[in-house]
Amino acid sequence: MRPALLDPLFAPLTSLKGIGPKMERPFARLLDREPPRVLDLLFHLPSGFVDRRARPTLAEAVPDTDVTVEVRVEAHFPAPPGRRAPHRTLVSDGTGDLTLVHFHLDAAVLERMLPVGATRWLCGRITLYDGMRQMTHPDRILDAAGLARLPPIEPVYPLVEGLGSGQLRRAMDAALGRLPDLPETLPPDLVVEKGWPTFKQALERIHRPQRLADIAVAGPAWQRLAFEELYAHQLTLALTRAQQTAVGGQATTGDGRLISKIETALPFALTAAQRAAIADIRVDIGSEKRMLRLLQGDVGSGKTIVALMAAGCVAEAGRQAALMAPTEVLARQHHETIAPLAAAAGLRCALLTGREKGRPRATLLSDLASGHIDLLIGTHAVIQPDVVFRDLALAIVDEQHRFGVEQRLALSRKGETADLLLMTATPIPRTLILTLFGDMALSELREKPPGRQKIDTRAVSLDRLEETTEAVGRALAGGAQVYWICPLVEESEHTDLATATDRFAALQERFGARVALVHGRLAAGEKDAAMARFSSGEARILVATTVVEVGVNVPNATLMVIEHAERFGLAQLHQLRGRVGRGDKPSTCLLLYRAPLGEIAKARLAMMRASDDGFAIAEEDLRLRGEGDVLGTRQSGFPGFTLARMDVHVPLLTEARTRAAQILSLDARLAAEHGDAARLLLYLHGRDAAMRFLSAG
Ligand code: ADP
Ligand code: MG
Repeated sequence: MRPALLDPLFAPLTSLKGIGPKMERPFARLLDREPPRVLDLLFHLPSGFVDRRARPTLAEAVPDTDVTVEVRVEAHFPAPPGRRAPHRTLVSDGTGDLTLVHFHLDAAVLERMLPVGATRWLCGRITLYDGMRQMTHPDRILDAAGLARLPPIEPVYPLVEGLGSGQLRRAMDAALGRLPDLPETLPPDLVVEKGWPTFKQALERIHRPQRLADIAVAGPAWQRLAFEELYAHQLTLALTRAQQTAVGGQATTGDGRLISKIETALPFALTAAQRAAIADIRVDIGSEKRMLRLLQGDVGSGKTIVALMAAGCVAEAGRQAALMAPTEVLARQHHETIAPLAAAAGLRCALLTGREKGRPRATLLSDLASGHIDLLIGTHAVIQPDVVFRDLALAIVDEQHRFGVEQRLALSRKGETADLLLMTATPIPRTLILTLFGDMALSELREKPPGRQKIDTRAVSLDRLEETTEAVGRALAGGAQVYWICPLVEESEHTDLATATDRFAALQERFGARVALVHGRLAAGEKDAAMARFSSGEARILVATTVVEVGVNVPNATLMVIEHAERFGLAQLHQLRGRVGRGDKPSTCLLLYRAPLGEIAKARLAMMRASDDGFAIAEEDLRLRGEGDVLGTRQSGFPGFTLARMDVHVPLLTEARTRAAQILSLDARLAAEHGDAARLLLYLHGRDAAMRFLSAG
């Protein structure tokens, strides 16, 4: 039972004042949790910050840096009616003047916020335009009262479509108000030695920083939280391992009949890396020891076939396998790839997602229970309690970091001694995997299938949009399909952002009904329908935000346009680009950027042009982050971790491991007083599953 002390943190986010049911969906997407809880928001740490302490005069202000300037409002120049021109406002201080530029905002509203003759404080970036100072859409327009409330350092958070930074800040304030004082969950001597703040203080400092050390990833507040998470994870691993060793595994030996049939049915030869991975897996499956193996391979390296062959191994022995994917689209795609091959080999497979309901679902479940299905492919739906296998021997989890430990365990528990195969496209260095996961075995698909051509990647300024659209037209005429990726779905805070809906309208005007649109605000059914139209070739252009799934496979798509590429991280650009170059035809990726580019953005785009090796790109990403950011971002986190960052917190891992081993060697059931602290920590960091091993027996 979770201690009542933690209840305020585990309450649904909608229990906070000002967060209605309408906000639940965008928060669920942001926090990757359904339904989102107060704790999930508190653990949503900043990806950057704005230093509001700089208060130069207009003459002193350095262009393109964040400043807060005190000015007098001089005059308004509203946009001429009917034109798309901006509203301009002239302001000044004793040292110079500045023009404010607002698009799409009512003149009356602006004149109320900025009355002529009044003093106002403006937060934002000044740019020079023809030698004149200009500020487009200030972040803040404040009067004296507003200035008094302005935080000295303002955290910047990752956002999703449908959620503004103001809404997030207000929600965060409400969540911080719920923070209880918890007893110390970490070894007290360690906390003293490191000089760490308490859990509550740590979160308050990061979300309401007074100085840079408060918000820095390497600062004591963040270090503490990262350690908590790593320590909880190491405890879970140690407990799980003890349990798995106790239960043991079962040797499954097939005769090679099915997998050789599958191989014959393949339209291509397996790569050496695929062969090696399959051989590793066969050995593991054939051994008494329970398999725990990670299959790591860049996008497009061919993990699905390896998963199918693994399933074939256990089916030969009359046992069952399950393949779980994080989304409906991915699960369906796996099923489409696998079904014909399985049919050719006589392996019976079925698909189970949230959409299979009623009679068909009941039939499927009874076939599964009687052993008439060899391989079940699906989403989270496969771990529902009423899904019962006759004899599950192998659980395969695709994009493993998108699932919690509990979900992976829930799947493998459906078979008493099931082997576990985890798959991921996120490259993690081998040494780090060993430190993170201890004795997990590793197979890598470093080699791409033959015939793949390097994706011709070019950076193109947005000024050349027209030429880009013509290139799309040529690609269509040649029979190809096209992805067009945009960063946000609707005009949000910055009106200058390209939006998927606008781009969709423009492309539709030009290319007609062949254009489809997917973005995060569509209902799951609509999203799948649009994806399906594109997969089937009915739609030729897919305009999308980043919801285009990592694993989606449309070999006929050979052109990808990424609009505002400068806004995407390197790893994300690489993942997106991996949607093309999946067939044998040459593919192109156009990175449309808005000039001028910053140094880091320039380096990122250059790396994208130079390399298509996911591992090399991941390393460069880390290096650039090291140079560019005081803060990491979610992307440089350990996959599957919320608080810890790979580039900064690795040194904490060893300590976390040692401490976990220490406490468990003293007290394997965490029964004594320090055990209470550890249990509290496990709950706090969502490691409830591990608790089962403590209460049993
Ligand atoms: P990922 O590792 O990203 O999951 P997939 O399994 O989706 O990759 O494979 C990507 C594409 O490569 C698919 O179209 C698949 O059929 C194809 N493919 C897989 N293995 C080979 C191979 N050995 N030779 C040629 N094509 C292959
Ligand atoms: Mg895949």
